[in-house]
Formats: sequence, structure tokens, C-alpha cells
Amino acid sequence: MDRLMALGLQASRRNFLVGAGRFAGAAAAVRLMPGAAFAAETSGTYCPPPSAWTDLAKAVKGGAVLRPEDPFFADICRPNNLRYGATLPAGIARCGTPEDVQACIKWVKELAMPFAVRSGGHNYAGFSTTPGLLIDMTLMAGAEPVAGSDGLVRVLGGTLNSYVYKQMERLGRTITHGRCDSVGAAGFLLGGGIGFNMRKFGMASDLLRATELVTADGSHVKADAATESALYWACRGGAGGNFGINTSFTLETRPAEPVTVFNLVWTKDLPKVLKLLLTELAAAPDEFGSKINVTIPSWQERCADVPLKLSILGQLHKSNKTLKEIFKSTWELIDKDQSQVKENVPYWTAQDFLVETTFPYYYQEKSSYMKAADIGDEAIAAMFDWAAKMPATSMPVAFKFFQVGGAINRVGPTETAYVHRGYDWLFSVEANWWRPTDSVLLIEQALEWQQRFYDDVNRRTKAQGAFQNFPDPSLADWQRAYYGENLARLAQVKKAVDPAMLFTFAQAIRPA
Ligand SMILES: Cc1cc2nc3c(=O)[nH]c(=O)nc-3n(C[C@H](O)[C@H](O)[C@H](O)COP(=O)(O)OP(=O)(O)OC[C@H]3O[C@@H](n4cnc5c(N)ncnc54)[C@H](O)[C@@H]3O)c2cc1C
Repeated sequence: MDRLMALGLQASRRNFLVGAGRFAGAAAAVRLMPGAAFAAETSGTYCPPPSAWTDLAKAVKGGAVLRPEDPFFADICRPNNLRYGATLPAGIARCGTPEDVQACIKWVKELAMPFAVRSGGHNYAGFSTTPGLLIDMTLMAGAEPVAGSDGLVRVLGGTLNSYVYKQMERLGRTITHGRCDSVGAAGFLLGGGIGFNMRKFGMASDLLRATELVTADGSHVKADAATESALYWACRGGAGGNFGINTSFTLETRPAEPVTVFNLVWTKDLPKVLKLLLTELAAAPDEFGSKINVTIPSWQERCADVPLKLSILGQLHKSNKTLKEIFKSTWELIDKDQSQVKENVPYWTAQDFLVETTFPYYYQEKSSYMKAADIGDEAIAAMFDWAAKMPATSMPVAFKFFQVGGAINRVGPTETAYVHRGYDWLFSVEANWWRPTDSVLLIEQALEWQQRFYDDVNRRTKAQGAFQNFPDPSLADWQRAYYGENLARLAQVKKAVDPAMLFTFAQAIRPA
């Protein structure tokens, strides 16, 4: 990867000069437009004069500036959700240092250029895509223990999760983390961060002890409990891209100890089993982490009579309860041929069993939070009725329940910006499709099905809120859904650090 980055950087420097010549004609045309510092090309990208790109390339000393003709440009700017893949940036600034980030902020302000910040590019709603400057943070990768501290690790602002996990493994430590290697630590941490350790250690953002960020006025500040404490509070769940560009995160870590991991499947009496799981597992010890999936087959799978599948993936840290005791009445109903349990596996080896490997595709996800006591038989029956009505696209979809509770609920809703405390389950329902295999009409039907499923199930279960790390472009009242009673304070922080809303996207927090 380092070699590729170095190649990309050299190619960029070389091609930049070639590109500058090639774009001179376009720039001359732009200069003829009165009052325009740059203009939108017909392709939808922005075109500042070549001299502006030269200035930026000189200022981004620790990284590189790429233009569309450069090698790897298309790969670097491809988002995980291909629904937003058609929005191509005019250029990419690959930042290697906080000074590079400051140079980008200065440049976009001078040119009034739209921009977006990107780490892992896994934002569900395309908030890290832009027709302007893409500020790519992935060269700022690293995770090192803080000397003299008791288990603090400082992660650089563009580090991908895979790097964080490798380093944690070397150090014999862990945090609350997800399963997908290619998610960026920045987006993950700033939006809360869920994973199988969360019931034992809290949300990933609960483990954040300090962060450094470049703010709208171009300064590079440290925020922790003692300094810039309001900004620190906002960075613990206020979601990426709202308050500045984070260049590092200092995290409290925990020893990585052996765990038991499992993937259990049920093939019969699915509504009854789902109800029992949602009810009985809510009483599990904090050492238990899980995610329930009900997977609805794609149309190809339906043609081959693939049935609906109910499964649960998760892990158990050392506990005074066994899996059998935790699963109670559902244990005997497991389809043993399709299920796996691996007991007492070294922590990071166990994560290889849990890892999620995905490729970019097209999707929208809708989420809400539920209490086990509010999930009745009638709501469960409705979920399976909706599943049967799904307009089948060429990709399977799932409705899922991420088990929350435990340590998450021992933090008050206003203690950090992550407000969703006091629940047992984070519910979500997917719509997945592939273009051009699935028609526009079918995609519209799938999205409508998803909305109706979501509305109906939320009503029946009194579900509330939505997870800000699963941003949903179709969510009407997203401010309240993501931030609840913390919205007003977040708006105050925004007013203090970014009153002119330099950092903006479709669901950005607005200044008070
Ligand atoms: C396959 C997949 C698996 C996932 N698994 C989990 C999971 O297990 N747990 C979980 O909690 N979430 C999970 N998510 C959701 C994921 O955590 C969020 O989408 C997260 O915001 C993605 O971060 P990113 O850096 O990869 O994305 P990006 O798209 O790069 O960034 C996300 C947002 O943060 C902003 N941003 C990026 N870098 C910075 C920075 N350095 N400073 C400030 N703002 C920045 C972006 O502008 C954007 O608004 C998953 C998503 C996918 C697609």
C-alpha cells in the first residue's frame, strides 16, 4: 500500500504539470466569465484556474494533489455506496499532515470551492463525495501508544480500521470496533461507533479521550475534557464532517483477551425464535455482544427456493454464564448443521471469524432504537409479513438488530453527543440493489417497501431515533432522530467553531 501511495504521489506531481497545460484552455474560458473564480464544467465538476491547482499542490507538502487524469484517481474517489459514485471531484488533495489539511482549508475558502472530507469513504449517504475538492485523509495513517500512559493509543485522522486492528493486535489491546476493515476510524468514532465490545466497554466514542482537529478558521486545536471541552463533547457522537477535520484521536484501550465467537442459524419457527431472542438476550451479561440478521433472499435466490434465514453473529468474553445459559429457550432450536461456535479463541484471531468483507454496491439503510419490552408478537408478525412482500432486487437484504445496552446505558444521554442511551436493540432495515441489473422502477418499489416496513415497525415497537453513523437521506426529521435532546447544544458548538457553515453537507448540523 505504501508503495502504491508513493507511486500515486509521484504520478500526481508529474501529471499535475501535464494536466496544468492541458487545462489552460479551459481556464482561459473560465477567466472570461465575469465574477467567477471557477466554474462548473458540463460534467458537473468544478474548474478553478490551473494556477490555483499549482498553488494547492505546492502547499500540500506532505501529500499530493491528484486530477482526474492521474493514476488511481477513480479508485481513490469511489465511495462505498455506489449510489453516490457518479459525483466526481474536480481534484483530490491527499493530506499527509495537519499542515496539509490547513492548506486545503485556506485554499477552499479563498476559492469558495465546495469540498468534502474523506477517510474510509463508507458514509451511507454520500456525505464524503463532492464535485469540488475531495480532502482525502488516508495518507494520515498510524496508531501508536501514548508514551507513559495507561493504555492510551493515538490514531491518526485518516487511518482505516484494518490498520487500527493490526496495531491493537501487536499491542495486545482492543477497543469497541466494527467488523469492516475498510471503514475509516474517523467516521466510525465521530458518529459513535458500534461493535461487539460495546456492551462491555461502551460506544467507541465513549473511549475517546482527546482529538485534534483543523477548524473552519484554519487553526489546529486539541479538544479534551480540559481544553475545548464543548468541542470534545461534540466529537463524541456529533458525526463526521460537522466541526472540522480531525487529524488524530486518542483512545482508551483495553486488554485483548480470548473470546468465544459464534454464528448460529435457525431455519424453523422464525417469528417465534426472533421474539425469544429479542426478549431473552436483553438480559445477557455485558460480556455478550451480538447482531441478529433476518436475511431476505434476492430474486435469483428466490428462483432457487432459498428460504428466509435467521442468524446471530457475536462473541462472549469470559463470563460466569455459558452461551447455552444466555440463549435459554432458543438454544435447542438451533440448526446445528449450519451453526458454528469457536470457544476461547485469542481475541484478534477470533475477529477473523467475525470480519465483514464487502465490495461497493448500491444501498440505503434505515435505523431506529427499540426496547425489548416494546417488541410484541404483533410487531414480529408484521416484520415477517413485510419480509414476504419485499420487491426482490438482485441483492439480498436484511433487517437487523444490533444488541446495545450494557455499558452504553450507564452513560447519560447528554454526557456525550451520542444521545441514544437506554435501549436494548438498534434496529435497521436495508434496501440493496445493483445497477443496471435492477430497473429504476424496481429500485423505487424497494425503497418504498423499506419506508413502509420502517414506519410500520417503528409504530408498533415505539422505536425512536436513528443512528447517525447509518445516515439515511430519506429521513425527514433527521436532526432530532440523530441527536435528540443534544441537538441544541450541538448547534451552539457549531456556532462557536463554524458560524458560516464552511463544513456542510445534506444533513450537517446548523449553527444555533
Ligand atoms: C460495510 C460497512 C460496515 C460498517 N460497519 C460499521 C460498524 O460495525 N459499526 C459502526 O459504528 N458503523 C459501521 N459502519 C458505518 C460507518 O461507521 C460510518 O459510515 C462511518 O461514518 C464511515 O466512516 P468512513 O471514514 O469510512 O467514511 P467517510 O465517508 O470517509 O466519512 C464519514 C463522514 O465523516 C467525515 N469525515 C471523514 N474523515 C473525517 C475526518 N478525519 N475528520 C472529520 N470528518 C471526517 C466525512 O466527511 C463524512 O461526513 C459501516 C459502514 C459500512 C459501509
